[in-house]
Amino acid sequence: MQLDPVAIIHSPYKQKFAIPRQPGLVSEAVGQIEFMPEYSDPNILRDIEQFSHLWLLFEFHQTAGQGWSPLVRPPRLGGNRKMGVFATRSTFRPNAIGMSVVELIDWQYQHNKLLLNVKGIDLLDGTPILDIKPYIPYSDAVPDAKGGFAATEPPQNTDINFSQTAQQQLDYYQQHYPQLEALIRNVLAQDPRPAYKKNNTDTQEYGMTLYDCNIRWQVIAGHCLVLSIEKAAN
Ligand code: SAH
Repeated sequence: MQLDPVAIIHSPYKQKFAIPRQPGLVSEAVGQIEFMPEYSDPNILRDIEQFSHLWLLFEFHQTAGQGWSPLVRPPRLGGNRKMGVFATRSTFRPNAIGMSVVELIDWQYQHNKLLLNVKGIDLLDGTPILDIKPYIPYSDAVPDAKGGFAATEPPQNTDINFSQTAQQQLDYYQQHYPQLEALIRNVLAQDPRPAYKKNNTDTQEYGMTLYDCNIRWQVIAGHCLVLSIEKAAN
Protein backbone atom coordinates (compact mmCIF):
# COMPACT_ATOMS: atom_id res chain seq x y z
CA MET A 1 0.00 0.00 0.00
CA GLN A 2 1.24 3.42 -0.82
CA LEU A 3 -0.32 6.38 0.93
CA ASP A 4 -0.63 9.75 -0.68
CA PRO A 5 -0.82 12.65 1.80
CA VAL A 6 -3.87 14.83 1.20
CA ALA A 7 -2.44 17.87 2.99
CA ILE A 8 0.33 19.13 5.22
CA ILE A 9 -0.17 20.97 8.48
CA HIS A 10 1.43 24.27 9.46
CA SER A 11 1.98 24.14 13.18
CA PRO A 12 3.58 26.40 15.81
CA TYR A 13 5.57 23.35 16.95
CA LYS A 14 8.78 23.50 14.95
CA GLN A 15 10.57 20.63 16.69
CA LYS A 16 9.50 17.48 18.49
CA PHE A 17 10.78 18.60 21.87
CA ALA A 18 8.03 20.19 23.99
CA ILE A 19 5.10 19.09 21.83
CA PRO A 20 2.40 17.90 24.24
CA ARG A 21 1.86 14.13 24.38
CA GLN A 22 -1.69 14.30 23.17
CA PRO A 23 -3.99 16.74 21.40
CA GLY A 24 -6.33 18.87 23.44
CA LEU A 25 -3.83 19.48 26.24
CA VAL A 26 -2.86 22.84 24.74
CA SER A 27 -5.94 24.31 23.10
CA GLU A 28 -4.08 27.44 21.91
CA ALA A 29 -2.04 25.33 19.51
CA VAL A 30 -3.68 26.23 16.22
CA GLY A 31 -2.77 24.42 13.02
CA GLN A 32 -3.53 25.25 9.42
CA ILE A 33 -4.03 22.26 7.18
CA GLU A 34 -3.13 23.11 3.59
CA PHE A 35 -4.42 20.66 1.02
CA MET A 36 -2.24 19.43 -1.83
CA PRO A 37 -3.22 20.95 -5.20
CA GLU A 38 -4.92 17.72 -6.32
CA TYR A 39 -7.13 17.78 -3.20
CA SER A 40 -7.78 21.52 -3.16
CA ASP A 41 -11.41 21.11 -4.16
CA PRO A 42 -13.70 22.80 -1.63
CA ASN A 43 -16.27 20.06 -2.25
CA ILE A 44 -14.19 17.67 -0.16
CA LEU A 45 -15.02 19.73 2.94
CA ARG A 46 -18.68 20.40 2.22
CA ASP A 47 -20.75 20.26 5.45
CA ILE A 48 -17.72 19.55 7.63
CA GLU A 49 -18.77 22.44 9.91
CA GLN A 50 -21.57 20.20 11.17
CA PHE A 51 -18.87 18.66 13.34
CA SER A 52 -17.01 20.36 16.14
CA HIS A 53 -14.11 17.90 16.19
CA LEU A 54 -12.16 15.93 13.62
CA TRP A 55 -9.81 12.98 13.60
CA LEU A 56 -6.52 13.59 11.86
CA LEU A 57 -4.53 10.61 10.66
CA PHE A 58 -0.98 11.53 9.84
CA GLU A 59 2.51 10.26 9.30
CA PHE A 60 5.09 10.62 12.09
CA HIS A 61 7.32 11.75 9.29
CA GLN A 62 10.21 12.94 11.40
CA THR A 63 10.78 9.59 13.07
CA ALA A 64 9.30 7.28 10.42
CA GLY A 65 12.68 6.04 9.22
CA GLN A 66 13.93 5.14 12.69
CA GLY A 67 12.35 1.71 13.01
CA TRP A 68 10.42 0.29 15.94
CA SER A 69 10.59 -2.44 18.54
CA PRO A 70 7.91 -4.63 20.14
CA LEU A 71 8.52 -3.07 23.56
CA VAL A 72 8.67 0.65 24.29
CA ARG A 73 9.19 2.74 27.42
CA PRO A 74 6.42 5.32 27.69
CA PRO A 75 7.75 8.66 29.01
CA ARG A 76 4.59 8.85 31.09
CA LEU A 77 5.95 5.97 33.21
CA GLY A 78 9.24 7.75 33.76
CA GLY A 79 10.88 5.82 30.93
CA ASN A 80 11.64 2.79 33.10
CA ARG A 81 8.79 0.38 32.31
CA LYS A 82 8.45 -1.48 29.06
CA MET A 83 5.10 -1.95 27.39
CA GLY A 84 3.99 -3.50 24.12
CA VAL A 85 4.15 -1.00 21.30
CA PHE A 86 0.44 -1.52 20.59
CA ALA A 87 -0.32 -0.73 24.25
CA THR A 88 1.14 2.74 23.75
CA ARG A 89 0.88 5.79 21.51
CA SER A 90 4.60 5.65 20.75
CA THR A 91 5.63 7.30 17.51
CA PHE A 92 7.92 4.33 16.74
CA ARG A 93 5.46 1.83 15.26
CA PRO A 94 5.46 -0.65 12.36
CA ASN A 95 3.42 1.87 10.37
CA ALA A 96 4.34 5.36 11.54
CA ILE A 97 0.73 6.59 11.68
CA GLY A 98 -0.53 9.02 14.31
CA MET A 99 -4.08 9.98 15.13
CA SER A 100 -5.32 13.05 16.95
CA VAL A 101 -8.71 14.50 17.76
CA VAL A 102 -8.70 18.24 17.09
CA GLU A 103 -11.26 21.01 17.24
CA LEU A 104 -12.47 22.46 13.96
CA ILE A 105 -12.21 26.25 13.76
CA ASP A 106 -13.15 27.03 10.15
CA TRP A 107 -11.95 26.62 6.58
CA GLN A 108 -11.26 28.84 3.58
CA TYR A 109 -10.78 28.50 -0.12
CA GLN A 110 -8.78 31.38 -1.49
CA HIS A 111 -6.35 31.81 -4.40
CA ASN A 112 -6.87 28.12 -5.27
CA LYS A 113 -5.72 27.12 -1.82
CA LEU A 114 -7.90 25.04 0.45
CA LEU A 115 -7.13 25.64 4.12
CA LEU A 116 -8.67 24.02 7.19
CA ASN A 117 -7.95 25.54 10.61
CA VAL A 118 -7.95 23.37 13.71
CA LYS A 119 -6.94 23.79 17.33
CA GLY A 120 -5.54 21.70 20.13
CA ILE A 121 -3.03 19.98 17.85
CA ASP A 122 -0.02 17.87 18.87
CA LEU A 123 1.54 17.73 15.40
CA LEU A 124 4.90 18.92 14.25
CA ASP A 125 5.10 21.60 11.57
CA GLY A 126 5.08 20.03 8.11
CA THR A 127 3.42 16.76 9.15
CA PRO A 128 1.79 15.00 6.18
CA ILE A 129 -1.93 14.49 6.76
CA LEU A 130 -3.16 11.14 5.42
CA ASP A 131 -6.84 11.40 6.20
CA ILE A 132 -9.45 13.50 7.99
CA LYS A 133 -12.67 12.15 9.48
CA PRO A 134 -15.39 13.68 11.60
CA TYR A 135 -15.35 12.81 15.29
CA ILE A 136 -18.62 11.03 16.10
CA PRO A 137 -19.33 11.38 19.83
CA TYR A 138 -21.91 8.62 20.24
CA SER A 139 -19.41 6.08 19.00
CA ASP A 140 -15.95 7.60 19.44
CA ALA A 141 -16.41 8.78 23.03
CA VAL A 142 -16.51 5.95 25.54
CA PRO A 143 -17.12 7.62 28.90
CA ASP A 144 -16.51 4.49 31.01
CA ALA A 145 -13.41 3.34 29.15
CA LYS A 146 -10.32 2.28 31.10
CA GLY A 147 -7.33 4.49 30.40
CA GLY A 148 -4.53 2.23 31.65
CA PHE A 149 -1.29 4.02 32.49
CA ALA A 150 -2.65 7.18 30.85
CA ALA A 151 -5.99 7.19 32.66
CA THR A 152 -5.80 10.82 33.71
CA GLU A 153 -4.36 13.97 32.21
CA PRO A 154 -0.71 14.37 33.18
CA PRO A 155 -0.14 16.66 36.19
CA GLN A 156 0.43 20.30 35.26
CA ASN A 157 2.92 22.76 36.66
CA THR A 158 1.23 26.16 36.71
CA ASP A 159 4.11 27.82 38.58
CA ILE A 160 5.44 29.64 35.53
CA ASN A 161 6.97 33.10 35.59
CA PHE A 162 8.66 35.33 33.04
CA SER A 163 11.92 37.12 33.76
CA GLN A 164 11.84 40.86 33.19
CA THR A 165 13.62 40.45 29.86
CA ALA A 166 11.33 37.64 28.77
CA GLN A 167 8.27 39.69 29.73
CA GLN A 168 9.38 42.59 27.52
CA GLN A 169 10.14 40.23 24.65
CA LEU A 170 6.77 38.58 25.16
CA ASP A 171 4.96 41.91 24.97
CA TYR A 172 6.66 42.51 21.62
CA TYR A 173 5.94 39.08 20.09
CA GLN A 174 2.37 39.04 21.39
CA GLN A 175 1.62 41.73 18.80
CA HIS A 176 2.19 39.09 16.11
CA TYR A 177 1.00 36.08 18.05
CA PRO A 178 -1.73 37.07 20.51
CA GLN A 179 -1.90 33.46 21.76
CA LEU A 180 1.81 33.26 22.50
CA GLU A 181 1.71 33.71 26.26
CA ALA A 182 -1.06 31.15 26.71
CA LEU A 183 0.72 28.77 24.35
CA ILE A 184 4.02 29.07 26.24
CA ARG A 185 2.30 28.67 29.61
CA ASN A 186 0.35 25.62 28.58
CA VAL A 187 3.27 23.97 26.82
CA LEU A 188 5.51 24.52 29.84
CA ALA A 189 2.75 23.37 32.20
CA GLN A 190 3.26 19.91 30.62
CA ASP A 191 6.90 20.05 31.81
CA PRO A 192 8.55 18.78 28.63
CA ARG A 193 11.82 17.89 30.38
CA PRO A 194 12.91 14.24 30.29
CA ALA A 195 11.33 12.28 33.15
CA TYR A 196 14.62 11.57 34.96
CA LYS A 197 15.26 15.31 35.34
CA LYS A 198 12.05 16.01 37.16
CA ASN A 199 12.86 14.72 40.61
CA ASN A 200 16.49 15.76 40.67
CA THR A 201 18.21 19.09 40.99
CA ASP A 202 18.19 20.43 37.47
CA THR A 203 20.03 23.62 36.64
CA GLN A 204 19.96 23.07 32.90
CA GLU A 205 18.52 25.68 30.56
CA TYR A 206 16.13 24.36 27.94
CA GLY A 207 15.12 25.81 24.61
CA MET A 208 12.10 25.27 22.39
CA THR A 209 10.83 26.85 19.22
CA LEU A 210 7.22 27.98 18.93
CA TYR A 211 6.30 29.83 15.73
CA ASP A 212 9.54 31.65 14.93
CA CYS A 213 10.43 32.29 18.56
CA ASN A 214 13.17 30.56 20.44
CA ILE A 215 12.12 30.30 24.07
CA ARG A 216 14.59 29.51 26.82
CA TRP A 217 13.56 28.43 30.27
CA GLN A 218 14.62 26.50 33.34
CA VAL A 219 12.93 24.80 36.26
CA ILE A 220 14.47 25.30 39.68
CA ALA A 221 12.88 23.41 42.54
CA GLY A 222 9.58 23.17 40.70
CA HIS A 223 9.44 26.85 39.71
CA CYS A 224 9.54 27.35 35.97
CA LEU A 225 11.13 30.58 34.80
CA VAL A 226 11.06 31.75 31.20
CA LEU A 227 14.43 33.40 30.60
CA SER A 228 14.15 34.80 27.10
CA ILE A 229 12.10 34.84 23.91
CA GLU A 230 14.09 35.60 20.80
CA LYS A 231 13.71 35.30 17.09
CA ALA A 232 14.70 31.80 16.05
CA ALA A 233 17.34 31.38 13.38
CA ASN A 234 15.79 29.76 10.30
N1 SAH B 1 -1.99 11.91 19.18
C1 SAH B 1 -1.02 11.13 18.42
C2 SAH B 1 0.42 11.43 18.82
C3 SAH B 1 0.84 10.88 20.12
S1 SAH B 1 2.56 10.88 20.34
C4 SAH B 1 -1.33 9.66 18.56
O1 SAH B 1 -1.81 9.25 19.60
O2 SAH B 1 -1.08 8.92 17.61
C5 SAH B 1 2.78 12.62 20.53
C6 SAH B 1 4.11 12.99 20.04
O3 SAH B 1 4.15 12.88 18.64
C7 SAH B 1 4.43 14.44 20.31
O4 SAH B 1 5.01 14.56 21.55
C8 SAH B 1 5.37 14.78 19.16
O5 SAH B 1 6.69 14.86 19.60
C9 SAH B 1 5.24 13.62 18.19
N2 SAH B 1 5.01 14.05 16.82
C10 SAH B 1 4.07 14.91 16.36
N3 SAH B 1 4.18 15.06 15.02
C11 SAH B 1 5.22 14.27 14.63
C12 SAH B 1 5.84 14.00 13.37
N4 SAH B 1 5.39 14.54 12.24
N5 SAH B 1 6.89 13.15 13.35
C13 SAH B 1 7.36 12.59 14.48
N6 SAH B 1 6.82 12.81 15.70
C14 SAH B 1 5.77 13.64 15.78
